[in-house]
Amino acid sequence: MPQPNAALEDLESILHEQEGCPICHYGRLAGRKYLDGVMYESVNDFGLRQRLVENMGFCAFHSQEMLTFPGAKLGAAIIEQAMLKEALHRMESAASSRGSFFSRGNKTRRSYAAPDQAICSACLHEQDSELRAIEELLKHWDESWETLLENAGGLCFNHLMQALKLASKSTGQTLKAMHERLWRETIAQLDEFIRKQDYRFRSEEISEAEGVASRRTIAILTGQPRKIISTKLST
Ligand SMILES: [Zn+2]
Ligand SMILES: [Zn+2]
Repeated sequence: MPQPNAALEDLESILHEQEGCPICHYGRLAGRKYLDGVMYESVNDFGLRQRLVENMGFCAFHSQEMLTFPGAKLGAAIIEQAMLKEALHRMESAASSRGSFFSRGNKTRRSYAAPDQAICSACLHEQDSELRAIEELLKHWDESWETLLENAGGLCFNHLMQALKLASKSTGQTLKAMHERLWRETIAQLDEFIRKQDYRFRSEEISEAEGVASRRTIAILTGQPRKIISTKLST
């Protein structure tokens, strides 16, 4: 009997429950779990807090998400206080070395903004998890995955490109053919939507799929929107 595989189990339930690129959804869940862990460890882990300070915390998105964990108010307060002290320090050192600091290269220069997705440790964790999920999916690829993925609308462009790099020849061909079908269908739906804007065809009803085709295209091209998975703080 095969070993239970947590990544595959998560991917399967995502594919059953949510539309759009399952790897994007999986990454978001992995990022949230990571953040959850960091929040609780940060209360006691000075080293971890120092590493966060180096980066000026998390990106804007994950900083906001940090506030949504029930019971994490202490962790958030400790992290944010350390970040604000660091911001104060950077502001003061920037102000005291005005002129030379901004005009010339400064080897010790640090950022003056929250980190973007290329640096944020939660974002990097999401990207690693996404890659591992793609590898697992390809390792266990069969017709049932194919059906599930096609029904969900396939992968986003970025994750498809990663998958195609790693896939065997035959799986790669299947994935390509699937996304050709899906994307050509979306192009045709956009065609219809555009055509029906013409006053001569305005009486024709716009289907639901045509109505959401622009939104779906954006999700294909830029990934699933990064919604905060929110569990509100009680106070
Ligand atoms: Zn994706
Ligand atoms: Zn982030």
